[in-house]
Amino acid sequence: MDRLPFSLPELLPGHVWLVGAGPGDPGLLSLLALQALRHADVIIYDALVDPRILALAHPATLCEFAGKRGGKPSIRQPDISERLILLARQGRRVLRLKGGDPFVFGRGAEEAMALALAQIPFRIVPGVTSGIGGLAYAGIPATSRETNSAITFVTGHDASGEVPDSLDWSALAKTAPVIVFYMALRNLQRITDQLIQSGRPADEPAAVISRAATERQRVLVGTLSDIAALAAREAIEPPALVVIGPVVPLRQHLDWLGGLAKTLQKD
Ligand code: SAH
Repeated sequence: MDRLPFSLPELLPGHVWLVGAGPGDPGLLSLLALQALRHADVIIYDALVDPRILALAHPATLCEFAGKRGGKPSIRQPDISERLILLARQGRRVLRLKGGDPFVFGRGAEEAMALALAQIPFRIVPGVTSGIGGLAYAGIPATSRETNSAITFVTGHDASGEVPDSLDWSALAKTAPVIVFYMALRNLQRITDQLIQSGRPADEPAAVISRAATERQRVLVGTLSDIAALAAREAIEPPALVVIGPVVPLRQHLDWLGGLAKTLQKD
């Protein structure tokens, strides 16, 4: 990193940093995330961390995959926390790297809790959550003055893979002008049916953003009634976000990424 006109805290031996890597584009990393990537002895990373980000690690750094994908856990959550604690107790500088933000649907709270209980010193480094950064890369603002004064983030499945029971669909349908669903691809038909049954107009704008802020980003735009069929027909792959509400049509004007691609083709 170039010399900075201020000093950043250092990842010390025996410490763990729980760091958000953002949705994909390495340019969205924070300075603290970059600093941790350069100084960690061990990096424990998730499936959602873009390979371009791991490539920033020091060549001598040990990188361990602790991914979970599509409900198929490869390492149990308590084992990940145990591993972090063990490595810290061995005096390593430990970087726990997660996609997006570690405290947004990322089990960061569980890992931080385990570290706190074990009295391991830790730091939380927020990342750009996909529900914000992914929308921005699709040219969909999270809020705009003309359209919505609130935004709601919802997980499309609970620990068992089902649509969460605890959700009050009618409250959500009535009070949330813009809803961003994480982990919603598998249950998308059920989610959109529920919203329509709870009073949302079937022709309300909806979008699916797949692999946002990566080299394979795809965006589909439709309505609440057809977005699930559209995503299935187009074989949209996870990770994907689903956005519902009046911010979606703003993409017609704000798809800056598509605009840049066209400009670069012309040059
Ligand atoms: N902590 C992460 C969320 C982890 S849950 C964050 O703050 O973004 C995993 C879900 O996040 C995925 O199922 C998907 O809904 C969403 N997600 C994460 N990265 C994404 C990306 N690059 N593009 C689209 N969705 C993404």
